[in-house]
Amino acid sequence: MTSMLIKDATILTMRGGSEDVLRGDVLIRDDIIAAVGPGLTAAEADVVAGRNLIVMPGLVNAHMHTWQTALRSIASNWTFPEYLRWVHAGLATHFGPRDIYISTLVGALNQLDCGTTTLVDWCHNNPTPAHTDAALEALRRSGIRAAFLHGTPKPDPRPGEPPYWEIAHPRDEVVRLRQALKPDAGLISLGLAVLGPHYATLEVTLQDFRLAQEFGLIASVHEGYGPSRCPEGWACLESEGLLNGLVNVVHGNELSDDRLRRLVDRGVQFTITPESELICGHGHPILGRLRDLGTWPSIGADIESAHSGDMLTAARTALTCQRSLDNIDARARGEFGGKSRLRARDALNWVTLEGARMLGQQDRIGSIAPGKQADLLILRTDAINLQPIHDPISAVVMQANPSNIDSVMVAGVWRKRHGRLLCADLQPALDELGESGRRIREAVGLHPTDIT
Ligand SMILES: [Zn+2]
Repeated sequence: MTSMLIKDATILTMRGGSEDVLRGDVLIRDDIIAAVGPGLTAAEADVVAGRNLIVMPGLVNAHMHTWQTALRSIASNWTFPEYLRWVHAGLATHFGPRDIYISTLVGALNQLDCGTTTLVDWCHNNPTPAHTDAALEALRRSGIRAAFLHGTPKPDPRPGEPPYWEIAHPRDEVVRLRQALKPDAGLISLGLAVLGPHYATLEVTLQDFRLAQEFGLIASVHEGYGPSRCPEGWACLESEGLLNGLVNVVHGNELSDDRLRRLVDRGVQFTITPESELICGHGHPILGRLRDLGTWPSIGADIESAHSGDMLTAARTALTCQRSLDNIDARARGEFGGKSRLRARDALNWVTLEGARMLGQQDRIGSIAPGKQADLLILRTDAINLQPIHDPISAVVMQANPSNIDSVMVAGVWRKRHGRLLCADLQPALDELGESGRRIREAVGLHPTDIT
């Protein structure tokens, strides 16, 4: 057994109440948080001095297409229809398994560097099992905890073949992956990234949701931007009894108030992706609408092809956007000088516990408590952009950036230490990523003038 004792740190437990922020120690034994509190002793433990450290739960990135890492910034100036045309109908079709591997590896390592310990990899560029296996191998190699949501590509229809929206999720592949990724075995869990009613026919939608239910897997769907392919889809899923806490809706900006309420009432989980929704034209994130229904979303960084994958930025953007909407509402009612309905702590909750809850893993990850997995993010507080720290939660949410992240631990193993990723061959991986991205961009005849 290995033991580690972090002494005399500021601990953001995310447990709520008087134990939310503690000054004290964290004892880790193997992959588990063994104890939290002041004055802990463990003679056998390696001691880490915590005087200038904030220790908090690792972040949960609840939605990201990690395979797009080689396309970084290509889509930064595109609207969503441009993104669909260029990325899904074009660039995506030129990814081989090795391209998926190198994008997923570097994307996952960057998540660790930015403090994410659990990555929901919404992998929807899997034309063959070899692509899927490449993504899984990269996630394993990175050392991150991941939920691998298996999805299918969206190429343009080809003559003589059905279009993607008429093709049900491949059952054989789910059977194969269920064998490979047994529940509670290792750091990688399985879920399904299905088309859902916005992108598929009713027949395919019902088939895919039944498939997920049969295997007890999360069914995650994109919902929104433009007309739905199956407007009656959500009502049919509801009447068929296929809506529950294993259903995850991403975006949801165009859902009616009534539909949103009905989905929340059935325990459906929501994930917002503030940067991509605001940049690409989805509309405002539905954070405030969910708050008014008594629930919160998790947050994802979505597409590094358009913006950063840093979850602290995503949390801050979500908070900033909703504060702005709340302020506009208040001023329209003639109210001035009231108290904000959103706190910095809420934002930290969205990127920790709410992500864990979306995955049904709130008993394992998302907060610092005895018995939970030792997934930790450690920030140095003696930095020019953080001092003085009057409130550590506000400092993390409103001031911190990845350069402040000293160390990241997943399941008791350091993945970043003293400001450096523990990855021996990062430069060759970056070289290969650059080559992969260039080749794919040139394959579709995309010139820098199409991007800027
Ligand atoms: Zn997405």
